[in-house]
Amino acid sequence: MLRGIPVSQGVSQGRVIVLNCSRIVPAKAGFEIDDQAEEEARLQAALAETRKQITAVQNRLRDELGAKESMIFDAHLLVLEDPALLEEVHRKVQDEHLTPEYAFYTASEKYAEALSAVDDSYLSERAADIRDVTQRVLGNLMGQPQQASVSDLTEPCIVVANDLTPSDTAQLDPAKVLGFVTEVGSRTSHTAILARSLQIPAVLGLGEAIEELKPGQTVLLDGFNGFVVITPSDQTLFEYGQLVERQTSIEESLDEIRTEPATTLDGHSITLSANIERAGDVEAVRKSGATGVGLFRTEFLYINRPNLPDEEEQFQAYKKVAESLAPEPVIIRTLDLGGDKLLSHVNVAAEMNPFLGWRAIRLCLEEKDLFRTQLRAILRASTFGNLKIMYPMVSGMDELDAANVLLDECREQLRGEGVGFAEDIEIGVMIETPSAAMIADSLAKHVQFFSIGTNDLIQYSLAVDRLNEKIAHLYEPTHPGILRLIKTTVDAGQAQQIWTGVCGEMAGDLVMVPLLIGLGVGELSVVSPMVPRVKKLIRSIEMAKARELAEFALNCDSPSEILARTERLAQEAVPSFFEKSTQRSE
Ligand code: PEP
Ligand code: MG
Repeated sequence: MLRGIPVSQGVSQGRVIVLNCSRIVPAKAGFEIDDQAEEEARLQAALAETRKQITAVQNRLRDELGAKESMIFDAHLLVLEDPALLEEVHRKVQDEHLTPEYAFYTASEKYAEALSAVDDSYLSERAADIRDVTQRVLGNLMGQPQQASVSDLTEPCIVVANDLTPSDTAQLDPAKVLGFVTEVGSRTSHTAILARSLQIPAVLGLGEAIEELKPGQTVLLDGFNGFVVITPSDQTLFEYGQLVERQTSIEESLDEIRTEPATTLDGHSITLSANIERAGDVEAVRKSGATGVGLFRTEFLYINRPNLPDEEEQFQAYKKVAESLAPEPVIIRTLDLGGDKLLSHVNVAAEMNPFLGWRAIRLCLEEKDLFRTQLRAILRASTFGNLKIMYPMVSGMDELDAANVLLDECREQLRGEGVGFAEDIEIGVMIETPSAAMIADSLAKHVQFFSIGTNDLIQYSLAVDRLNEKIAHLYEPTHPGILRLIKTTVDAGQAQQIWTGVCGEMAGDLVMVPLLIGLGVGELSVVSPMVPRVKKLIRSIEMAKARELAEFALNCDSPSEILARTERLAQEAVPSFFEKSTQRSE
């Protein structure tokens, strides 16, 4: 039994498939003229090996799924035989004495880039084919035989990978991926957040123990407790079956409160809204019983595609969400690219510290056209419902002012074009940098709401990388430093009569809910599947007790003591939510 960090609840069982999601990018290198023949032979051998591998996959698919599905790999074989590509590679090896790795990579990337620059889905698939084949060739040249990729999945399985980027994860088909396990990663990585949103059980940060997991093994994945059981016994399967039954019956029992308000036992109402990543998620929001959307992470409209979404496409997406949920509010967070969410077509150079780098509002204030396109789309969609705009990663007043200048420019343009928009659209900022919390009193005078992004606020305040499993134990939401920043923000908001919400993962962590509402947070925005449980918990506690807890926490030095107290209050309120162990794992 292996243990990692449980990041997405649920239990699943299936066969392991090992994915290699990291792309090989060879460094520029040459070779001695004497080695010419040897290098060319190496290239030929790698091409032959790649052909053999692709044909083998194709034959397997033909047997399993039929001729039509296996034809996808014809396109891959054609890449390997493409005369223009091969000629260019040979020329680079023969004339420029560049290694076959670098020659193949640069030649193929030139074609792939040209194809992906064209706004055409057929051509962008061809670019993906070229990149897939290139990775296989590079794997063979560099002695790293390629494993399966996200798009190779043909049957339901448990995916095991060193890492999955948020874009890899966004491509996972929940019908094919029963669960996933990674070597690195942590609870508030966007990969973990997506797993919860897609309701795929996941265990991250297994570390080197991941080596134990081999293709074809049957494993049981326990996303409640973070266990991965290799070849589970009948007894284990029986115990987990019971755990799943208990959890399912809890979910069913929550159906009846979906339409009820999120009000505490002593009559204090909390706004409970949902976090979404795609316009299509609105169905889940509606079913969950949430009041609108507290965070629409719009960057997922931009990733996994060869081009940027234009104004019209974004307008349609925002309009759909606004219309489907009207009159409930929908908070659209402007583009938060950077950190762990990267795009190939916005040229973001590799950075030493991407989370401290060219990210979110910083990037948007420089890539003004990109930002204006989004702002115009949001403004245009604002007449179709109750939209609000929220800027991410604000660290000072200047950024807020600069963003509003651009927003005003877009308003002017639209007025000039005779296009309508909601004149009184509300503007808010995320409080997710320590400096934003410290100057919340100033910010509060210029916005209509705050939403605390605890995922980043914690990583920046405690200097703990939110992705790094090695320091996950230091990522403490109950650290007094964090609670004081939350309180400072809430107080600054109240002084200006604006509300403060939390849209980071802390809001959907049942244990943290009493603490947050006790601190005066008025809105919690959580992933849709968690809405019913958070609502039930709010309806089972007294605000008076939550406030006592917050009072205690603000005067306590110890994160673990605070955690124990808030845990106790949450568990006493709804004990069944916390019974997640099987006898085996207790
Ligand atoms: C946060 O930082 O808490 C947040 C909600 O934004 P994201 O997780 O997308 O960075
Ligand atoms: Mg954030």
